[in-house]
Formats: sequence, C-alpha cells, structure tokens
Amino acid sequence: MTEGLTPCARVKCIAVLAFAALISICGPVSATPETSEGLAATEVLANTKQGGVIAATRYGPADASTKVLVIGQMHGDESAGRRVVRALANRLASGIQLPADTAIWLVSTMNPDGARAGTRVNAAGVDLNRNFPQGWRQQGRATETWSGPSAGSEAETAAMSKFLDRVKPTAVLAFHQPFAVVDITHPASRRAGRVLANWLELPARVVGCPGPCYGTLTGWVDDHLAAIALTVELPQRVSAARINRSATAVLRLTRWLAR
Ligand SMILES: [Zn+2]
Repeated sequence: MTEGLTPCARVKCIAVLAFAALISICGPVSATPETSEGLAATEVLANTKQGGVIAATRYGPADASTKVLVIGQMHGDESAGRRVVRALANRLASGIQLPADTAIWLVSTMNPDGARAGTRVNAAGVDLNRNFPQGWRQQGRATETWSGPSAGSEAETAAMSKFLDRVKPTAVLAFHQPFAVVDITHPASRRAGRVLANWLELPARVVGCPGPCYGTLTGWVDDHLAAIALTVELPQRVSAARINRSATAVLRLTRWLAR
C-alpha cells in the first residue's frame, strides 16, 4: 500500500488511515478533524434521526479549483455505490496521485437510517431524491417516493444542500441501482456523462422520472449550482470487477475535468 512512498508520505498515509479507522470505530463525532497537512479531512455533515452519521471525506486541497463529489448511496436499499466509494477511498488513501489543484470528496451514504433498515426512504419515510427544493411538490405520501412535508424538510437533504452550497463542486456523481445506465437528463452535464458512461461501460441516456421529475438532487445541483450533475445507475448485481472499473472511471473523469 505504501510501497514506493517517501517516509514522509508514509506517515501521511498512516495518519489518514488511522483517522478513517477512528471514524468507523467511534461512530458519531461532531468535530472536524484534520489530517495530512490539510490534504485530507473528514467532516460530519449531519447526525440523523436514528443516530446515523453522514460524513464527507476530502482528498486533495480544500481550495482546489476542480472538485468532484461522489455520493455512494441516497436510497438505503441500493448499496453498490458505497462499495465504489470504499474502493476510491482505499486508492486515494494509499497515495494515488490526483492532478494538481484537484480534490475528490467522498460521501459513502447520505441515508444511513435507510441503509440500516434496508429501505429506499429515510426513517421518516421520505424519499430524499424527491425532497430537494428544485421543483419540489408534495407528492407520494405513504409511498416509497414520498417527497416529504416540505422542500428540504429532511436533515439529510438540508445537510447535503448546505454542504454543496459551501463546497461548490465541479461535478456531483450520485450512485443508484438497478437500471445500469448513466442518466444524462441535464444538458450541461451530457458531455461529461457520455465520457463517464464510456469508461463505466454503461449506456448514457436521458432517463428522467416516471412522470415529471421533482425534488431531485441532480435537478437542484444543475439548477442551483450550475455544476455537472450525473446519476449513475449500477445494475442490481454488481461484481467486484465492476466496482473496480467504476472507481477507475471516477478517477479518469476527475482527471478529464481537471485537464
Ligand atoms: Zn436510487
């Protein structure tokens, strides 16, 4: 893992890994610890209703001009994206080089309560991908696509919006399942979406929603941040090879955006 690194770089790696281990052992934390001379940091974005933690880890400088945010999971019953995030974290922590002035942010899950329960929705029964303010409407109560009582009502959505507003990423990649497609609904994201889909070995298509789209993360990112916003739908069953290919594709896209 640290082969070929200088002793100094090795110390940095150990510090990053030790912090990652601390987070996984200790669970909820409220501070924003720093590691590796500011080149990697984890912060807690929110603590959820049932004690889950939404955390974001940055690799690369905080003031990077190219920033890619990867969200491994929004729906609690779609976990493959978390494996992609884990593969990326392992590669980044073991010293893989990013271009200068570039950072990757990783969020394993923005729905820890849903993940624990194995449900699409959060603990309040809300579909987080219908709860963002962009085009929000109250719809689907008592179904798996309930948009919630008001726009951005859920702690998970509010924390993610606030975080995105602060970080202002160049691109947001949100992993879902099981449709095996990269959704290029947003015109400004199409070029990047086609490039990414090619590396993922998935088709790129305008997928949209059954009926009009409302309250989605990518809709809000596209409209509010004018950033690249892509939904990556992995298949239902995801092999280890596909996880590795997906992590490679994200790194290639990051380099492509930084060029
Ligand atoms: Zn989903």
